[in-house]
Amino acid sequence: MTSSPQNNADRAARIAPDLLRWYDANARTLPWRTAPGSNVPADPYRVWLSEIMLQQTTVAAVKPYFKDFTARWPNVAALAAAPDQDVLAAWAGLGYYARARNLIACARTVAEAGGRFPETEDGLRALPGVGAYTAAAIAAIAFGQRAVAVDANVERVVSRLFAIATPLPASRPAIRAAAGSITSDARAGDFAQAMMDLGSSICTSREPKCLVCPLRRDCRAQAQGIAASLPVKAAKKPRPERTGTAFWIERDGHVLLVKRAGRGMLAGMRALPDDGWAARRDGDGVPPVGAEWHEAAAQVRHVFTHFSLQMRIAATRDAPARLAEELGGEWWPLDRIADAGLPTLFANAVKVMAATE
Ligand code: SF4
Repeated sequence: MTSSPQNNADRAARIAPDLLRWYDANARTLPWRTAPGSNVPADPYRVWLSEIMLQQTTVAAVKPYFKDFTARWPNVAALAAAPDQDVLAAWAGLGYYARARNLIACARTVAEAGGRFPETEDGLRALPGVGAYTAAAIAAIAFGQRAVAVDANVERVVSRLFAIATPLPASRPAIRAAAGSITSDARAGDFAQAMMDLGSSICTSREPKCLVCPLRRDCRAQAQGIAASLPVKAAKKPRPERTGTAFWIERDGHVLLVKRAGRGMLAGMRALPDDGWAARRDGDGVPPVGAEWHEAAAQVRHVFTHFSLQMRIAATRDAPARLAEELGGEWWPLDRIADAGLPTLFANAVKVMAATE
């Protein structure tokens, strides 16, 4: 494959039509999508909600949450009016809880401005929790605007199409420019979604299926036999290991839950009391009250973005009722613990305790 300017232009001009033809026949059916080439515009609320949920989360994990959210809150006004605790509880298990708090803030910002999402990338970007990729994706999918939406999937496809071997993240400007050179004006939303689908089903991380890829004839990495080695990633720093303790305080079929502080990790979520562990420090192991404590045999391990936590669980039973007030918490019935909206880490602590009964 030679790379004269004319060849490059011809190649770039072929990629979008080839991709869209493939998408017309192979698009995934997803609850937030309209059919390829559809004249029915996608609902900006559903597109926005799905894009926020899909950040760092798989389609399979998002689907039931999307269904639940849109059944309970079918439009942005309904979500904006929902109590924080209801939304945080409905989000529980999806992880990256800052997204849920931004979701609430964004819904309220849009509702206060009349209930319509901005249609431009810049306008969308100004909303809480909407970064460059999400703004571009919503602008393209919901409003049909030409926008270069580059997430990890698209980074992979583009770095292979153009055989960009500079390691990430230094290669991002080159990837972005290359992505811009192939982004189509027509069918902007379908193009963005086609790139996502190609990245998740054909141009996969480990074993790209080049033989059945619609972009094969224009892919430099495929021609050079280096597809699976791209994109090159700079070596990651090891994730720090932290230790901490969660405290299981039980009385009369109830467990004491607290609400975490309004800022920081898992902010505003219901949780078991803990010993102050955080991304930069281990917990101090000091229980919140004097009592007879027993450590559960099993522990909970949880991987956060910036650290891993090994969490012990210390339990005390027959605790006095006044502790709820002393610790600023509430006694939550154990037979309704699934409704508490606990983050996965604490939901797993509940499972450990259920198994030790
Ligand atoms: S030919 Fe292979 S490496 Fe190139 S875009 Fe298609 S699947 Fe990816």
